[in-house]
Amino acid sequence: MNHILILGGGASGMVAAISAAEHAAKDTAVILLEQNSKLGKKLLATGNGRCNLDNTTCTVDRYFTSDPQTASMLLSHIEQINLQSWFTEHGLLCREAEDGRLYPYSNQAADVVNLLIYWLEQLHVQVHTDCRVTEIAQADDTFTVVTADGSKFNGNAIICAMGGNAGPQFGSEGFGIKTAFRSGCQMEPLYPCLVPLKCNKEQIQNLSGIRVKAAASLYDEAQLIHTEVGEIQFTDYGISGIAIMQLSGWLGTQYGLQHPTIRLNLFPQYTEDALTTLLVDRAQRMPNASIIDYMTGLVHPQIGLAVWHTCNLGNETRIVSSLQTKEWNLLAQGLQQWVFSDLQDTGWKNAQTTGGGIALHQIEPHSFQLKEKHGMYFVGETVDCAGYCGGYNLHLAFGSGILAGKHAAEKLKNE
Ligand SMILES: Cc1cc2nc3c(=O)[nH]c(=O)nc-3n(C[C@H](O)[C@H](O)[C@H](O)COP(=O)(O)OP(=O)(O)OC[C@H]3O[C@@H](n4cnc5c(N)ncnc54)[C@H](O)[C@@H]3O)c2cc1C
Repeated sequence: MNHILILGGGASGMVAAISAAEHAAKDTAVILLEQNSKLGKKLLATGNGRCNLDNTTCTVDRYFTSDPQTASMLLSHIEQINLQSWFTEHGLLCREAEDGRLYPYSNQAADVVNLLIYWLEQLHVQVHTDCRVTEIAQADDTFTVVTADGSKFNGNAIICAMGGNAGPQFGSEGFGIKTAFRSGCQMEPLYPCLVPLKCNKEQIQNLSGIRVKAAASLYDEAQLIHTEVGEIQFTDYGISGIAIMQLSGWLGTQYGLQHPTIRLNLFPQYTEDALTTLLVDRAQRMPNASIIDYMTGLVHPQIGLAVWHTCNLGNETRIVSSLQTKEWNLLAQGLQQWVFSDLQDTGWKNAQTTGGGIALHQIEPHSFQLKEKHGMYFVGETVDCAGYCGGYNLHLAFGSGILAGKHAAEKLKNE
């Protein structure tokens, strides 16, 4: 009897097991090992409990990777599955929301997890929870997996779906990556990706809890790297919000930024001249206003004061009619190029995904099997292809799991 072992019962592992069981010969057992007491713990937390499970436009420019060419090939194979159809065929009605994001129609991540569990049961996948993989060995064509309680499982194919380093509180605390490394894989340096950022604390004093809409641009010295528009959240340690989390992906070593800073433009729809004119007109209508009164109704007053101080325009008790033309220019510049420096990620616990991982050239793009180690597959967050916010990471996790499961099953059937 053949055995396919799936290590990790998260997003990629559950669909890999379903796909393997659907394509396997009758004499093949599919076994899923998960260290948590329940399957899909991280999946339940995705999309704020709604599970943004895919996106209708998953092009390579939505992924952080050292190897966009191979990533593009992987994505084109995943595209052929048509994940929305796959989910529909498995009973999950989906809805498309803003920017091509796909959600379960019920808006419940729990429904996605429960439906996947239903199929695991229907297809007689042997699920072992509370089962932590501690060792993997290979002799000839057989893989042996040892778990924390000393149990041993033998498999003819093994799909490693144990996630990356991001979100260790959900179970993925790096064993998947360690396994790849120990298996001889070349690894791209890891970094927490899609993560809030710390910055110079002086720049955010008294701003914790405030949210503003802005265009956030990442610069390396004077070079513009990337811009995202969205809501920026100020915290006691730094800045957060989807736009900032997207920018965090560019802090990976593969992009080689030396002195990254983020500049916020609080008025992206205005040119600098138009904003200066607006500021001056406004001052003529309220000449006796103090700076804080002047800012009220323009931007959040605390934000206005913080920008005012970065512009070095003197005491905030100044009356606006005392400002000279060049000072209005400076204030307009400050409101459009508010700089945040000393950027640092806030660690794996706050990260939604893992930047870096298995260098993609070692993976067969149609199956996620290692080219040098047939029978061994790495899927999901273990590979060097981290997506933006918007369903791109689950696209990769589900897509790679489905491809690997199908390939492992069909390969054994044909052997
Ligand atoms: C808060 C949060 C929200 C997110 N929201 C979204 C979203 O809306 N859309 C999106 O596309 N992406 C989202 N992501 C990212 C997405 O969840 C991950 O990229 C995806 O889950 C990765 O799938 P995976 O199967 O590779 O890993 P995981 O889902 O992390 O699964 C790995 C599994 O392996 C198990 N495991 C680990 N080590 C062992 C071991 N030694 N033995 C046995 N089992 C082991 C873990 O317990 C875990 O269950 C979010 C992430 C977080 C943290």
